[in-house]
Amino acid sequence: MARMRAVQVSLAKGNFELVERPVPEPAGGEVRVKVQACGICHSDIFAKEGLFPGVNYPRVPGHEVVGRVDKLGDGVTTWQVGQRVGVGWHGGHCFTCDRCRLGDFITCRHAHVTGLTFDGGYAEYTVVPQQALAAVPDKLESSEAAPLMCAGVTTFNALRHSGAQPGDLVAVQGIGGLGHLAVQFAARMGFRTAAISSGPDKKPLALRLGAHEYIDARQTDPAKALADMGGAAVILATAPQSELIASVVEGLGVGGKLLIVAVAAGPLSVLPLELIGSRRSIAGWPSGHAMDSQQTMEFAALTGVRPMIETFPLDQAAAFERMLANKVRFRAVLTMP
Ligand SMILES: [Zn+2]
Ligand SMILES: [Zn+2]
Repeated sequence: MARMRAVQVSLAKGNFELVERPVPEPAGGEVRVKVQACGICHSDIFAKEGLFPGVNYPRVPGHEVVGRVDKLGDGVTTWQVGQRVGVGWHGGHCFTCDRCRLGDFITCRHAHVTGLTFDGGYAEYTVVPQQALAAVPDKLESSEAAPLMCAGVTTFNALRHSGAQPGDLVAVQGIGGLGHLAVQFAARMGFRTAAISSGPDKKPLALRLGAHEYIDARQTDPAKALADMGGAAVILATAPQSELIASVVEGLGVGGKLLIVAVAAGPLSVLPLELIGSRRSIAGWPSGHAMDSQQTMEFAALTGVRPMIETFPLDQAAAFERMLANKVRFRAVLTMP
């Protein structure tokens, strides 16, 4: 039986370890992908720490996967061997639950999660349900496309469904793995884009990414700065700190929405009065299904949005540590020759 290299977590709270495993075979309706690149996402910590319900170990994490179709299971007609594809957090859906019957696959009650409910992309091969695959545009390098499968689709999808109109003030809180993509998307969607981070050194980067305004949270109160600009239609919270997220509510204009994609652990402390008078709201957004990912990549190819990445070989566990310690600018990507 053919063997491959993979990085797995052997048990909950275990470490990432490089192992040899059999190359998996695709069952009916599944596609085997020869992985070229896999981004490292903070949510991979769920696999490592056993924080996600119903995960069986050992498990190969990784849900920002791009590679080439290598083998088709029975009944797969949509994809061809050799085609370049990606798979993200959303790893397939059941088609029969009430959410699926409404066509809202991302909220499927039996949704699979790549790298959690089945083995993901920290490996030379992975096997994916056919409905979870997105076609990758030729213009994108695989290593650049990979982070678009989670960080990209999450921010792109949140922004395009946010209700903000071209010319509206949209603020992105945090310039990290998610935020540096969100700033690019927001600017290219035609929003007046304000980037919020701390320190003067982030300003040139924010402007280079396309921000029209930079708010240094160390110098000024971001809520006041946004209010002075007329109030934001949307503030997209990408930095996972509840206190910071709650602190910007007063920067929203009338009807403004605080839209959260950062998985912050603590509760949000917001006074009801901060919401009521100006009809403000607070909402969350999950990632997206395969077509959302495909449209994210097509938009990126069209408009020049690209993640800033550092690449690492599969066997370099240091990438995980650097990523988790927030040292990567801005996305670590494992690449496989
Ligand atoms: Zn992710
Ligand atoms: Zn379903």
